[in-house]
Amino acid sequence: MKAQSSIRSEDTVESLTKNQRLVYDALLDAGRALGAYDLLDRLRPRGFAVAPSVYRALNELSGKGLVRHLTSVRGFVALHAGTAPTASAFMVCTRCGTVDQIVAEGLQMALEDGLVAAGFSPTEMVPEIPGTCRHCRTTEDAGAPSVSSAR
Ligand SMILES: [Zn+2]
Repeated sequence: MKAQSSIRSEDTVESLTKNQRLVYDALLDAGRALGAYDLLDRLRPRGFAVAPSVYRALNELSGKGLVRHLTSVRGFVALHAGTAPTASAFMVCTRCGTVDQIVAEGLQMALEDGLVAAGFSPTEMVPEIPGTCRHCRTTEDAGAPSVSSAR
């Protein structure tokens, strides 16, 4: 059975409360995973005073499919509205902390097939892939001898 999880993007984003919107926008602006206390620091000037307000907004956004907790970096990222989270994979740069999302339907289908064959029932299936982002690779190539060309 295929999950019907595409987000009704405009409806969902338009229906956010003020606090949900502030948290969602802060995560979109960050472009990386942020913990609740990082978010609180960024949002204090906007009226957030305590971590539970941030957690509440994060939980609600998570329920709407707009925010996801990444276990590998212990932080939250904003999902691009309209993307089905079940068909996504996250690229997590281990140098600069940037998190980006790619649609990976083929990967998801292959994973599902393998899991079904193994009789395994996953609680979630969103791959988090650590590595080096394009920007960091470019910086690396300019500043240091390339590893790939060394024999
Ligand atoms: Zn990077």
